[in-house]
Amino acid sequence: METWSDTLIEHKGQTVRIDGVAFASIGRLKLLTILQERARAVGVEPLYQNHIGGVEALEDADLVVAADGAGSIIRRHYASEFGTTIRNLSNRFAWFGTTKPFDALTQSFVETEQGRFNAHHYRYAKDMSTFLVEVDEKNVLAQWNG
Ligand SMILES: Cc1cc2nc3c(=O)[nH]c(=O)nc-3n(C[C@H](O)[C@H](O)[C@H](O)COP(=O)(O)OP(=O)(O)OC[C@H]3O[C@@H](n4cnc5c(N)ncnc54)[C@H](O)[C@@H]3O)c2cc1C
Repeated sequence: METWSDTLIEHKGQTVRIDGVAFASIGRLKLLTILQERARAVGVEPLYQNHIGGVEALEDADLVVAADGAGSIIRRHYASEFGTTIRNLSNRFAWFGTTKPFDALTQSFVETEQGRFNAHHYRYAKDMSTFLVEVDEKNVLAQWNG
């Protein structure tokens, strides 16, 4: 894993360093490989390409651990029991990878003619970083509408 303790904020040409914010990162494929190996080591055999259409399909299970992500059918099915509330926010994101290894998690705020952007970037391996770009919906729609 890559680890560091500071985060950086780049705003209006200034870099502000905030110390003591511990952070660790790992490439997703590497993490998934470790988790799969760990599951097999304790006798769990993963099934892939096995879509569960509804909670009825799980009726025979001794134990269900609901880890089916943002669109979880289990959370939706038991929404009233769980007290689920869902709120959609409007910012738009695009994720990129780059071979530039950034020192630490950095939030770069940039104002352009197309609007305000915030890039979140950090390395997850010695030679690779995530580069995530965030923009508010108003600016995306302004671009689309010409
Ligand atoms: C592009 C991107 C980049 C991200 N980067 C980071 C990052 O750098 N660091 C970080 O901490 N987080 C990051 N996140 C967020 C992180 O990926 C999620 O918070 C995390 O994956 C959620 O884990 P989860 O196990 O709840 O759900 P998921 O990882 O979504 O796993 C849910 C699993 O359930 C399966 N599934 C769903 N429904 C069914 C069904 N009906 N039948 C069978 N299987 C089903 C799905 O196929 C999936 O494998 C990122 C997210 C995205 C989209």
